[in-house]
Amino acid sequence: MECHCSHQFFFNFSGNSSLTSYGEDGINLIYFFPFEEGDVLGTTYIHDDQIDHHIIEVDTVINSSLDWSATSTNPPINNLQALMLHEFGHWLNLRDLYGDLDTPYKSDISPVQKVMFYEKRTSLGNWNLVTLSDPDKAGLSWIYDHPAPVINAIYPATGENSASISVNITGSNYMSMTDSDLSVTLSKSGQSSINANSVLLISSSRVSCTLPITGAEPGQWDVTLQHHDGKTVTLTNRFTILNQPVVTGITPNSGENTGPVNITTLSGSNFSSGATVALTKTGQTTINATNVSVISSSLLHQR
Ligand SMILES: [Zn+2]
Repeated sequence: MECHCSHQFFFNFSGNSSLTSYGEDGINLIYFFPFEEGDVLGTTYIHDDQIDHHIIEVDTVINSSLDWSATSTNPPINNLQALMLHEFGHWLNLRDLYGDLDTPYKSDISPVQKVMFYEKRTSLGNWNLVTLSDPDKAGLSWIYDHPAPVINAIYPATGENSASISVNITGSNYMSMTDSDLSVTLSKSGQSSINANSVLLISSSRVSCTLPITGAEPGQWDVTLQHHDGKTVTLTNRFTILNQPVVTGITPNSGENTGPVNITTLSGSNFSSGATVALTKTGQTTINATNVSVISSSLLHQR
């Protein structure tokens, strides 16, 4: 299917119709009718040309036996805008999402905040949805084309190779439909790539994941985010892996509690710029050092 992502749709009010029935008659009709089934909010009928199935006409019937408001947020007053957004999905040939509410959903067919879910409930967050939610946009993007992801930032952008680290990636155009169709990878020349675990779409502008960097080569690594459709974004040298610092000596190693103590030398290995120094003792407030300067990767100085 071709991408028509930039196309817009408009409703123009053409006045009240004098029609008393709906059907294939060349007129797209939005019609109030008292359904006998009281739980049906509305129905859309799609008429196609019977040849190549181009849609040539749609009629939407709204159940006039129910109470309606354009702004309702709670049952039993139904939200007309929310229903029409759903029915408009049918105009575009999107179908209802069905599922068994009494058994757990797979995460990729959750009804929560989905315009096209067949039933509207406040507990599902779709009773008064009048704009597309992120899951709806992801669904549309799955069907149509979708712009490539963009990364603006990764936080934190540094991690020690002594443990896995959880990070947030912010940017735009993020999407996923299942638990496994979004990937984040660290790569570095001469090293095996590191695939992130627990990659989770938080919103279209934020993804969280866990980077298993235990034992990884220190240095700057490229960060790549990839969608199911193969579109990727890579930021070079964006995540820095550090060796865990080791402290082997401190001079002086004692001080009186009458004033600040000037530590002339803190020795060890794997020190890097931006390092912080603190004294800790169980049950006591941590004492943070000031004026820390890194002389070399094995020497810290504090005045
Ligand atoms: Zn429907």
